Amino acid sequence: MSTIFQKIIDREIPADIVHEDDVCLAFRDVNPQAPTHVLVIPKRPIVSLETLADDEAAIVGHMALVIRDLARQLGLAEGGYRVVVNCGADGGQTVDHLHYHLLGGRPMSWPPG
Ligand code: AMP
Repeated sequence: MSTIFQKIIDREIPADIVHEDDVCLAFRDVNPQAPTHVLVIPKRPIVSLETLADDEAAIVGHMALVIRDLARQLGLAEGGYRVVVNCGADGGQTVDHLHYHLLGGRPMSWPPG
């Protein structure tokens, strides 16, 4: 069964898309935890960092550059921002499709909950 993020990739459900290229898609989180909260996902159906294959390193490398550029475009670069990947049950992952949270627009605290 396809995940909700696969349905967004396939345009079966709508999303507020802020970036798309051959490798990844970025869209605004439907339940934002900061003034700016964007999810960046690979188009390839990678479940999590745990299942990332050695030959998929270029995909996450590309996504890191997309996150860098999005942070600049969305006005986060100067003030700073946080990038989060939840992995598995203890990590708090709720959607089984790898995703990077890009959060910004307010000061972040540490440690995370
Ligand atoms: P995680 O808990 O790390 O798996 O993050 C999943 C994220 O997906 C949560 O922040 C949700 O708010 C977000 N989310 C779930 N469904 C949608 C959707 N249809 N569009 C945008 N974001 C979503």
